[in-house]
Amino acid sequence: MVDEVQSNATPVTPAKPAVEKKETKAQKMERLKVEKNPWEHWDEVVAFAKEGRESVVPDWAGAYFKWWGIYTQGDGIGAVGGVGGEGKATEYFMMRVGIPNGILTSEQTRVLADLARDHGRDLADITTRQNIQYHWLTIESLPLVVDALSKVGLSPKGACGDVVRNVTGCPLTGLHKHELLDAAPLAKKVAAFLTGHPDFVNLPRKFKITVGGCPEWCNYPEINDIGLTAIERTVNGQREVGYSVRVGGGLSKEPHLAIRLNAFVKQDQAEDVCYKITEIFRDQQGSLRESRTTARLKYMFMKDGWTAETFLAEIERKLGYKLDPAPAETQPDDIYRDHTGVLPQKQAGLSSVGITVLRGRMDASQLHALADLADEYGNGDVRLTIQQNAIITNVPNEKVQALVEKINALGLHVEATNFWRGTVACTGTEFCKLAIAETKGFSRWLVDEMEERVPNFDQQLRINVTGCPNNCGQAWIADIGLEGKKVKHEGQMVDAFYFCLGGALGEHAGFARAIGYRAPATEVPVAMERLLKTYLKDRTQNENLRQ
Ligand code: SF4
Repeated sequence: MVDEVQSNATPVTPAKPAVEKKETKAQKMERLKVEKNPWEHWDEVVAFAKEGRESVVPDWAGAYFKWWGIYTQGDGIGAVGGVGGEGKATEYFMMRVGIPNGILTSEQTRVLADLARDHGRDLADITTRQNIQYHWLTIESLPLVVDALSKVGLSPKGACGDVVRNVTGCPLTGLHKHELLDAAPLAKKVAAFLTGHPDFVNLPRKFKITVGGCPEWCNYPEINDIGLTAIERTVNGQREVGYSVRVGGGLSKEPHLAIRLNAFVKQDQAEDVCYKITEIFRDQQGSLRESRTTARLKYMFMKDGWTAETFLAEIERKLGYKLDPAPAETQPDDIYRDHTGVLPQKQAGLSSVGITVLRGRMDASQLHALADLADEYGNGDVRLTIQQNAIITNVPNEKVQALVEKINALGLHVEATNFWRGTVACTGTEFCKLAIAETKGFSRWLVDEMEERVPNFDQQLRINVTGCPNNCGQAWIADIGLEGKKVKHEGQMVDAFYFCLGGALGEHAGFARAIGYRAPATEVPVAMERLLKTYLKDRTQNENLRQ
């Protein structure tokens, strides 16, 4: 019957089956973020962990793990399609533990050390956001690690993923001789509110906040999505301390210095201002949700036509009131911002002892020893810095020398050479799936080489080694930035580094310039020796590498 009817009808060209469009990486991530709040589903991660590494990896795993600070190491979950994937679980994971304002108690430090020893093959890396990063965790160990952390008030929650990342700040907050205010309570409050809050689980991408009262801006407000820096003004003869606010800073492939808004943020307004800015970012649709590459606050200024004025007007609309105009501001010179060495605190008779941890890498016994030393010589605090170093605080002046000797015996340094002190390195190929070049071992070797080749180098030097253009190693703000590549050398593809020079923050802020020179990793020390010796020979008085 059907055939008869059809035979009398005008022949119809059969419709082509619809071609299913492949979901883009950004679309997949946006879908997954809407489907589930990963912070409410730790139990599924635990269940997955119980099944062990033989289990089939669910679609969501690679994405949602990040909300719990977990990345895969090498091939596996994240390697398939970047955000999810199928097949067998990868064997090992890395985990970042967020440490708001970088401040740890000795008890927390000991637990971090124990976990590194028991589950992380003895490694604990300090990151450039004051996190501790573990490697070599197995799927089975993930719940154990998270449980142990939570017992001492720590969590990996929000250390990765499209959320507010660890809220950073000056590690000497409350102690710095010249600070305008102690900003740690604000940093901790903002971190506690935004990390884990269901309203902030789905941002377009990662979002970085820093809050500081430090006059040296050691927390690099210029390269954060929100940078609050303490500032003072005088109203009717009364001195008042509040915050200056910058937005839209960031590095990665297209660096952008944060833009200062014409606002004086009173201390009791600061928390709300942070939330409203985060909401503005969260609620952006369009381009910020279509491409993961350009889903950062800075692109609202770089691509979408926002200005300091329109952005401030939007904050004020959301707040429901106007902020006072910003007073004049003195930006710090780009001096040492690392707070290492022995520094007298504002508390009479006490000093902080800043320890340079070359490329941020410690083993469990070093971390454990720092906790013990902090109890014995200080007030128990171990504070981590953005330059991948650590500080023991509240040390009575008469005990400083003994502490310094004990730190030196650990293979760490209080008074280090400019090379040791100034070198920062990202994760690199050792553990990072995106890396092009190895960085941590290279940096260690590079520092040894440079100490031998240019032993008389007498100025501050920031050497930032980054394993790929994503720039987690912050090469754009370095005196000498080294960005990992691969080149053919003597018939083999080998690690190499592109040089960029002259980056600075503060008063003379500007990004390092790529100079079009690259060298195989093995030849980098020779090139740097040439560069630094020429500089030493030709420099004029008061000149530095940025001039
Ligand atoms: Fe990995 Fe590249 Fe970031 Fe280094 S800069 S940690 S290699 S993504």
